Amino acid sequence: MTQISGKRVLVAGGAGFLGSHLCETLLQQGCEVLCVDNFFSSTRRNVEHLIADPRFELMRHDVTFPLYVAVDEIFNLACPASPVHYQFDPVQTTKTSVIGAINMLGLAKRVKAKVFQASTSEVYGDPTVHPQPESYWGNVNPIGFRSCYDEGKRCAETLFFDYHRQHGLQVKVARIFNTYGPRMHPHDGRVVSNFIVQALKGENITIYGEGSQTRSFCYVDDLIDGFLRLMATPADVTGPVNLGNPNEFTIRELAEMVIELTGSRSRLVFERLPSDDPKQRRPDIGQATAVLGWRPRTQLREGLQKTIGYFEALLAQGEIFKRERAGVL
Ligand code: NAD
Ligand code: UDP
Repeated sequence: MTQISGKRVLVAGGAGFLGSHLCETLLQQGCEVLCVDNFFSSTRRNVEHLIADPRFELMRHDVTFPLYVAVDEIFNLACPASPVHYQFDPVQTTKTSVIGAINMLGLAKRVKAKVFQASTSEVYGDPTVHPQPESYWGNVNPIGFRSCYDEGKRCAETLFFDYHRQHGLQVKVARIFNTYGPRMHPHDGRVVSNFIVQALKGENITIYGEGSQTRSFCYVDDLIDGFLRLMATPADVTGPVNLGNPNEFTIRELAEMVIELTGSRSRLVFERLPSDDPKQRRPDIGQATAVLGWRPRTQLREGLQKTIGYFEALLAQGEIFKRERAGVL
């Protein structure tokens, strides 16, 4: 494993939920961090506590345009990740994944940097193999509402592996499964943030479908540890590597746990299931364990408690309501 301290690291999408935690950890490990973001699905608030650090630089930039900087390593996280955000402007979502990947790979090639891609379990679509190993090629609808994200990420993976084979680039591709934690966007429509905000406000908890679909939820700190382990592997380790928590829950179980942990009186209501919503999802993390020595440590209950604490503080500051009124969410 290579030493990261002292490196100049670019985090594209660095002001987002995962990006802000990554920037924070990289600074703690002694790196200089260039955080690049167009704030499409985030705000400066996520990284404002880092701005006073002279080793941290924040740049507004859209990765669909070329970027000329000098760095040693690149983490490409730039892409809206929640269905609400990525379906808002689907053409832009595909451009961000595909042209963004080309620009990050082009930069990596020019400055000879190692480059990490935040890929996703969505490359498996609505999987017919369960749990999902990296060898599974997936079951993806190419023309549906989720396709801009799923196919964009699949094409980005193709580009990463072609740059690796054609240009000898050092690439690291992580397939991330549902991750949650503090600094999730309160209105991004993802299930964990939705349920917690609804429970804390005493509103109905919206379960799509019957709530029998499953997901496996990874706490953000565990995931970031996986990112750094993958980035530190020798050049012949490219991935794709699944990173996620293999403990699987139904959406209904998640709703009940959120109600219990918040002590909320919210009721469960059942709404229409969005099209192409995957019925089941659980990572096979055999590779991550064997190659990276990685496994998630945080149980769902413990991670939810920390995340609830974050949203409680946000609500107490009136932040969620202020932003709603200002129309910025
Ligand atoms: P997020 O929306 O909080 O973060 C994405 C960041 O990218 C935001 O800050 C956004 O403003 C920025 N961005 C979007 N388009 C951009 C563009 N054209 N140029 C520059 N910046 C742009 O989401 P997240 O959960 O932090 O996800 C980060 C990455 O991890 C994404 O690539 C996502 O696809 C991937 N991922 C996340 C999860 C998860 O569960 N959180 C699961 C699978 C994959
Ligand atoms: N979901 C739900 N209620 C919500 C938000 C999401 O039941 O308020 C469901 C959604 O239909 C999906 C699961 O929760 O089956 C996870 O949704 P999310 O958008 O968080 O992630 P993804 O579907 O991309 O895994």
